[in-house]
Amino acid sequence: MARPLRRRAERLRTSALLLRRVPVGEADLIATFFTEERGLLAAVARGARRSTKRFGGLEPMHLLRLELDERAGADLAGLVEASIERPRLHLTADLPRLDAAGRALRWVRDITPAHIAEPDVWRELNRLLDELDTPPGAPTSPEHPPLTPDAVLVVAGLRFLNAFGWGLDLGRCVRCGRTCDPGTSAYADPARGGLVCRACGGGRLLLRAELRERLADLASGGEGAIAPDDLRTALDLVEGALTAHASGGAGT
Ligand SMILES: [Zn+2]
Repeated sequence: MARPLRRRAERLRTSALLLRRVPVGEADLIATFFTEERGLLAAVARGARRSTKRFGGLEPMHLLRLELDERAGADLAGLVEASIERPRLHLTADLPRLDAAGRALRWVRDITPAHIAEPDVWRELNRLLDELDTPPGAPTSPEHPPLTPDAVLVVAGLRFLNAFGWGLDLGRCVRCGRTCDPGTSAYADPARGGLVCRACGGGRLLLRAELRERLADLASGGEGAIAPDDLRTALDLVEGALTAHASGGAGT
């Protein structure tokens, strides 16, 4: 069957998260979304600052439902309607949780290529936001106490790295390949994606053996808490590795 010559807009319906919105002109907005169907995507919302009727859902953190018009070859889609599919009100009411969620959204915005669905990243990001939306005082089991926002962020970061094929190597030196004895502390360089042994110059972070083991386990889907003393190092490692990729591998 012959295709019509004129490129008509195609209607796309997808779940999405709002990553950024920038005012343009007198009444319009350009919104950047991470969508389930197309990954990273920018769309213009005409008249969004005059009328909130069609665009009531243009808020970060909540799971959104979008209708968009896409035209082949065009950078910007047209936003037809945005509504909140599932609100995350406990998350948006708490500053430390908002902070952690905001960092995860920035990672995704900076490292995700445009117009490519990333189902693993989509799932992990929504899992993180849902976990940060847990009602305060919700029942928990002794084996799985509630994680702090930073701990939730570390787990999501490890899995984002895996999803993009940048999983951290926490068993061997990434330069010479020498295996690091389990049970010993080791230096890591986040921008190089894993351990760097002393002979190869070491790295700026020192990871305790327990932390190396825990991070490797969490990255492969395990559950469990990171010791509070290790949390800063763990977050530094994960964020350093992600931001190194954001700038094309040139480091931060
Ligand atoms: Zn080495």
